[in-house]
Amino acid sequence: MTAMAPSTVDYARQVAEQVLDPELPVLTLAELGVLRAVELAGDTVLVTITPTYSGCPALDEMRADLRKGLREAGFAHVEVRTVLSPAWTTDWISEDGRRKLTEHGIAPPRRIGPRLAGPVPLRLDPPSAVVPCPRCGSRDTVELSRFSSTACKALRSCSACAEPFEHVKEI
Ligand SMILES: [Zn+2]
Repeated sequence: MTAMAPSTVDYARQVAEQVLDPELPVLTLAELGVLRAVELAGDTVLVTITPTYSGCPALDEMRADLRKGLREAGFAHVEVRTVLSPAWTTDWISEDGRRKLTEHGIAPPRRIGPRLAGPVPLRLDPPSAVVPCPRCGSRDTVELSRFSSTACKALRSCSACAEPFEHVKEI
């Protein structure tokens, strides 16, 4: 190994970061914000992820894709762990991820901001109800269905360009 070669754990992290999200395959797990840590323990790669929507059956697929990707990159032993706290929110989707969603005609989730824990839910700065059309940018859009091809997306329609589009719902 030369001095320029990435360390084993850096390489494992690069591989894990490029695995695509099963629900939103235009995004990598890194862009989605679910990848918490990639570590090496002996010859085992330990990947820690935080699951996204509890209603989405993507977690098992995500685990399998991580194992497969890392095995193909030469890591024989892979362990994927999940941590539930702090809970993932759509605010964890990176700016690059939001841009890629828009480029693929999917409206990204609006930013919600930090949530207040406690018995009284209080929103000081509620997100705007407006979801701009990812194609033409018009703010004149309506929700057609709360659920689209997957539970995490809603189906909306744009009045300006008359096209339906999917919207990643905020959680
Ligand atoms: Zn439009």
